[in-house]
Amino acid sequence: MATLLKIASPRDGTPLGEVPATDPAKVQAIVESCRRAQAEWAATPLSERIARMKAARRRFLERAEAFVERITAENGKPEAEAWMSEIVPTADLFDYWLKNIRPHLARERVPLNPVNYPGKTAFIEYRPRGIIGLITPWNLPVAIPLRTLVPALLAGDGVVFKPSEFTPRCGALLAEVFEGMPLEVVQGAGEVGRALVEGGVDAVIFTGSVATGKKVASAAAERLLPCSVELGGKDAAIVLADADLDRAAHGIVWGALHFAGQDCSSVERVYVVREVADAFLKRVTEEVSRLRLGVEVGPLTTPAQLEIVERQVQEAVAKGAKVLCGGRRAPKEGLWFEPTVLTDVGEEMSILCEETFGPVLPVVIVEDAKEALSRVNASEYGLTASLWTRDVMAGWHLAAEVETGVFMVNNHSFTGAVPALPWSGVKRSGYGVTGSHLALESLVRPQVVLLDRSRAKREMWWFPYDEALLVAARALRDLALGRVGALGRLLGAFLRRFK
Ligand code: ADP
Repeated sequence: MATLLKIASPRDGTPLGEVPATDPAKVQAIVESCRRAQAEWAATPLSERIARMKAARRRFLERAEAFVERITAENGKPEAEAWMSEIVPTADLFDYWLKNIRPHLARERVPLNPVNYPGKTAFIEYRPRGIIGLITPWNLPVAIPLRTLVPALLAGDGVVFKPSEFTPRCGALLAEVFEGMPLEVVQGAGEVGRALVEGGVDAVIFTGSVATGKKVASAAAERLLPCSVELGGKDAAIVLADADLDRAAHGIVWGALHFAGQDCSSVERVYVVREVADAFLKRVTEEVSRLRLGVEVGPLTTPAQLEIVERQVQEAVAKGAKVLCGGRRAPKEGLWFEPTVLTDVGEEMSILCEETFGPVLPVVIVEDAKEALSRVNASEYGLTASLWTRDVMAGWHLAAEVETGVFMVNNHSFTGAVPALPWSGVKRSGYGVTGSHLALESLVRPQVVLLDRSRAKREMWWFPYDEALLVAARALRDLALGRVGALGRLLGAFLRRFK
C-alpha cells in the first residue's frame, strides 16, 4: 500500500489531507520516462519553448490565489508574505528568463589564432544537461523551486521535482502550471529524495539543511553528478553608531521575523555598537512587541523546528541571556512561538552559533565595526550579512572583508527575490548558485564544436615528428616573445614539413 503524507495546518493542527508518496523503487522509471519527454522538448525550437513558458507564466499568475491558499495552509506564513515572497517576484522571474534565455544560451564564436590553427572555426554551444533532480524545502515552497524550474525547462532540460514532504500540495500545483513540459513530481520524504539522486538524473539542485546537503552532495559525487547545494545561514546585521536607527530597527526586525524567522537569510544575530545599543534595543523591542501572531508573524512550519527554537532559547536563558520580549511558545493551539528579543547572549550559546529557524532576534553589543566583522566572519556559515550606516560608501568598502555570498548596506535578505542576482553562499552555506546567468552552469553544459576547412593533408603537430617540427616549435615560442625575426624560420620550417 502506498505511504501517505499526512499534512496538518501548522496554525491549528487541522488536517489538510493526505498525499500519496511515490514509491522510491519507482523513481528511476519516472526519471526514464521524463527523459523521453525531455528529448522531444530539447529538440523543440527555443522560440516554441519560450511561447509555452509564456503560457505557463499566465497560468501561474492566474492561479495566484490557489497558490497563496496552499502556501498559507501548508507552510503557515501570513497571506501578505505568501503574496510578497512567492507570487509578486515570480512574475519578474519568468520575465527575466523569458527575455534572457536566448542571449544567455546563444552560441559563442571563439576566435582561434590563424597561425597555429589555420582554416578552423570554433564555437561554444550550450546543451541541456538532460534531467535535473530538484529537491526543495518547505520555507518557500513555490518560489524556491521556480528559481530552477523556469530556467531549466527553458534551457531544454527535463526536471524531476521532489517538493518537501511538508508542502506536497504546493509542489503538485506547480506541476499543473508547466503542463505539457517534461516535469514530473515525486512526493515523499528523505528516502524519495535519495532515490532521486540515485535514480539516473544528470544534475542535482538541492536547497535545504546542511546535514541533508552533505548527504546529497556526497551521493551526487559518487555518481560524478554536477550538484548545487544551497544551505542554511546564521546571518548577521551590524549596526554602526551613524546608522539611521529607525530604519535599522524596522529593517532588522523584518529581516529577523519574516516567515517567522524561517528564511535561510533571516537575521539571526545583531551586532550593535555600544554607543547606540540602548536606543536600538528600545526601538527593536517596541517594534517586536507590537507584532501580531497570525498577521505579521506566522507559526513555525514543523514541530521539529518549534522544539529546536524552544531549546535554543531556553539554553540561552539558562546561560544568562536576558529576554526583552517573547521567549516562549505562544499559549495557543498550533506551532506558535512568541516573537522574541534576547540580549546578553554569548557566541558559545547555540542561539548564536547554530541555525535558528524561528522568530528570535539575539542582540550582541560590540565596541566597533572591526569587532563586529570578526564575529560575523567567525561563523561556520556565510550566506548573507547586512551593515547599517549612513555612510554608504564606507559600508561598500567593507564588502570585500565580509565572508558571505550577499552583503547589503542598509537592507537585508530581499535579493533572493531578484532573478538577475546570484544567490549563493560560502562555507557551510553551500556552493550552489541560483539566479542570474551563473545559475545556468548547473543546468546546461558547454559543448565545443570545431569546424575545419583546411585543405592541408596534415596539421603541423601530426606525425611524423622531425627536425622541422622542432624548428617550427622554437620559432613559435620566439614569436610569442615578440621576436618577429622568427617568422622567416617558421615559414622555412612549414615549407620543409609540408613539401
Ligand atoms: P528542511 O528541514 O529545511 O526542509 P531538509 O534538508 O531536511 O531541510 O530537507 C530539504 C529537502 O531534502 C526536503 O525535500 C527533504 O525531503 C529532502 N531530503 C531529506 N533527506 C534527504 C536525502 N537523504 N536525500 C535527498 N533528499 C533528502
